Amino acid sequence: MSEIDLQQVKWLVRELASDDAFVRRDAIERLAILTQQRLDYRWSGSPAERRRTVKRWKRWIAREERARRGRHVKTTIQILAGGTIDKEALDAALESLPPAQKKALMAKVLAKVTAQHAGATSLPTCEHCERRPATAGVTQLQDDGTYTYRQLCEVCAHREGG
Ligand SMILES: [Zn+2]
Repeated sequence: MSEIDLQQVKWLVRELASDDAFVRRDAIERLAILTQQRLDYRWSGSPAERRRTVKRWKRWIAREERARRGRHVKTTIQILAGGTIDKEALDAALESLPPAQKKALMAKVLAKVTAQHAGATSLPTCEHCERRPATAGVTQLQDDGTYTYRQLCEVCAHREGG
């Protein structure tokens, strides 16, 4: 399930304070659909009652924002702990973080990517002598008409070719 659009909730909560009863009614009905709650707000309530329940809505938004930051940090840590880095997931995870925290996490992610890249470019071992690093890929036509591909070191590639 996707998260509730908090910007939309904020906008509707502002409308709860409207002097226009129709605007208030429309706003609370849309909030009820969006969030599955009314927090005791009544569009026909007295101004004092409405002010009190609008505050309740604002507290709910603040709590929801804190909870989301917590979830995003958790997601980011999972991404950092996992094998691959999904750029989209990372952007979403870091989106609402305070700048200092975001900077620190980005540094960690970059360090991880750098480490992965270094691992990927280290050479495999030669498939023939199984000692030297394989620097050449050798494709050979076999007697049965099939091709084989082997990763070989400089020395073995030369021997196989000659
Ligand atoms: Zn070799």
